Amino acid sequence: MPHRTETDSRKLLRRLRDEMSLSNPAQERLDRITTIIAESMGVEVCSIYLFRDPETMELCATEGLRPESVHLTRMRLGEGLVGKVARLARPVNTANAPAEPGFRYMPETGEEIYTSFLGVPIQRLGERLGVLVVQAKEPRLYSDDEIYGLEVVAMVLAEMTELGAFVGEGTSFATPHKHPTLLRGVTAQEGEAEGEVWLHEPRVVITNLVNDDSQAELARLEGAVAQLRVSIDQLLTNAGSRDKEHQEVLQTYRMFAHSRGWMKRMEEDIRRGLSAEAAVEKEQSAARARLETVPDAYLRDRLHDLDDLSNRLLRILTGQGSETGAEMPERPILVARNIGPGELLEYGRKLRAVVLEEGAVGSHATIVARALAIPLIINVPRITTEALNGDHILVDGTEGLVHLRPDDSITSAFRDKMAMQAKAQERYASLRDKPAQARCGTRITLKMNAGLMADLPSLPSSGAEAVGLFRTELQFLARDRMPKRSDLVANYTRVLDAAKEKKVYFRTLDIGSDKVMPYMKRPDEPNPAMGWRALRVGLDKPGVLRMQLQALIRAANGRALSVMFPLVATESEFTRAHDMLMREIAREQRLGHILPAKVEVGAMLETPSLAYAPKSFFDAVDFISIGGNDLKQFFFAADRENELVRRRYDTLNVAFLTFLQVIVDRCHESQTALSFCGEDAGRPIDALALAGIGISSLSMRPASIGPVKSLIRRANLNEVSELIARVQVRGLESARPALMDYVSTLVD
Ligand code: PEP
Ligand code: MG
Repeated sequence: MPHRTETDSRKLLRRLRDEMSLSNPAQERLDRITTIIAESMGVEVCSIYLFRDPETMELCATEGLRPESVHLTRMRLGEGLVGKVARLARPVNTANAPAEPGFRYMPETGEEIYTSFLGVPIQRLGERLGVLVVQAKEPRLYSDDEIYGLEVVAMVLAEMTELGAFVGEGTSFATPHKHPTLLRGVTAQEGEAEGEVWLHEPRVVITNLVNDDSQAELARLEGAVAQLRVSIDQLLTNAGSRDKEHQEVLQTYRMFAHSRGWMKRMEEDIRRGLSAEAAVEKEQSAARARLETVPDAYLRDRLHDLDDLSNRLLRILTGQGSETGAEMPERPILVARNIGPGELLEYGRKLRAVVLEEGAVGSHATIVARALAIPLIINVPRITTEALNGDHILVDGTEGLVHLRPDDSITSAFRDKMAMQAKAQERYASLRDKPAQARCGTRITLKMNAGLMADLPSLPSSGAEAVGLFRTELQFLARDRMPKRSDLVANYTRVLDAAKEKKVYFRTLDIGSDKVMPYMKRPDEPNPAMGWRALRVGLDKPGVLRMQLQALIRAANGRALSVMFPLVATESEFTRAHDMLMREIAREQRLGHILPAKVEVGAMLETPSLAYAPKSFFDAVDFISIGGNDLKQFFFAADRENELVRRRYDTLNVAFLTFLQVIVDRCHESQTALSFCGEDAGRPIDALALAGIGISSLSMRPASIGPVKSLIRRANLNEVSELIARVQVRGLESARPALMDYVSTLVD
């Protein structure tokens, strides 16, 4: 009689556990396991197929099929019923296997006399290891109970990685996760790095798979789930008025944590003999297998949530926190699903690179990684399931590639590339104290962008003449409470101290759009980039902006102060902001604080409207800084965060350059200082074009200063300017091809 009951299932698991704990040769143990399963299920055949490489499976042990076919019979992923189980990552159950579409008969096995077939995947946390199959002569369908029982057995088998030795080197089973893997993502911060994987949330290791006392395990699960529910409720209470999205994620967690279906499946697994943690992992594995096949992004996110929840539950059950006692490698490359800006700041510059499964180009973590100048690749599928702590990893931030456990040829090619870049860096370092003076004699001022105290050490080493953009919001984003005025004073003082005699252009808070402070209530906006952000918030709800202005005045403490307001769209917005600053200066004076020796007030030109503001605006501002990232997105109506469109329009598009020339002319007319501080200023060819049309001050990432300076010193800006004019006359779309040609003629 075939095995049907939970008691049978438990007995079977215990027999398997006992078998697995013996020290006889691996093949012998695997053979015994197939015999035990066949016996216990009352079927003639039980076979184990394992992956030899990601595409091929091999029959590795069998009870019932011809022994000579073991290690001979192979099939490709998707081939035959066994291949179908592996590809779909779900059971295939049929009373009449030969009649099934895709059936492939393998004569060497002698399987033609068996009619019924049940195959279940052997998988562990989304990694496919192989397929477990039972077959019988009797043409019958297997019951749900039997399928379930076999899945539980496959789960236990999946954990027997030490048995892998018998299939030989190089197979995923013998050395799970150990094959070289190339993963492709999206560049969020350029740069290359070599190092070892450091998982932000390391995987929980389960040692105890089979239970001796189901009741006790059920009680453990119940206790852990209760604890989990309390902790989620706590998070929800703490989240309070935080942003809506955060609330929604927690609500989903809560829903899962209270899901009867999830609980019931895990309880069933335990009744069948799994330990509580093995039951959680079995559900997690199933969810991960489903993740790969679900096309709907929303559903995939929910499955991710379930995965996170399972991890939390596993930590409660095993008592393993994020701290596993593992030592951080010497060259840590952080691998995570996602990471908050605060957490990333805590790691700081220790990290060589960061690789995220999720993330967004404009997320806070990205902003922090940029500020720390750490290469960052985001949207790398499967990285957290593929990578293990300590794995060798190469991050090619320029191409958006991650080489996990690369083979030697890849590693040496990568090292050559890094060495060439290091050489170039040396050359740039030798230019550090030389001016960015073009061959025509025009001098361009190169400044750096910063946002953290940690950026300031780059000021002398980069050769920047000033901090052309200090993004003050990072200090607000990287914490979970609103900073106090005294915190801001201390921070800005340190920044000015570190900059010594060099100027720092403080950009007032640019929150909203992608930069959301978790502790500030915000309306839900359909299009936040064009919504209530930056100076708009500062003018409507002036509390925080006023506090910031006061802090800047106090931090200057008698030194010169340069302030610029973000996203000014009209003259009146600038006037109101300017008046606010003047009022704060007067107030500080009344309070007896030392006033700055000199105050410069500027506007960031990030909307096309400001280019056409009245002349009185250009006369009133001390300087204008073009926020090219925003200006370009509004000029072309192409969201800078949206992967589908963000690279669609070239900065050297003639329409855009012609528009920038309008700004240059207007500033020239009013003798207003003009600077450009978007990311494009750091791209040498783009920088050359900007200099060529008359923008004589560029602010960029510190690492870009060397390459930009090197190119400017080799070029003649009159020639660049003439070249752009010719492209305009000819009606070409972009000046890039002509500029590239020009650059290729320049001598090194
Ligand atoms: C810009 O928009 O170009 C800019 C410099 O500001 P941010 O990238 O912080 O919006
Ligand atoms: Mg901007």
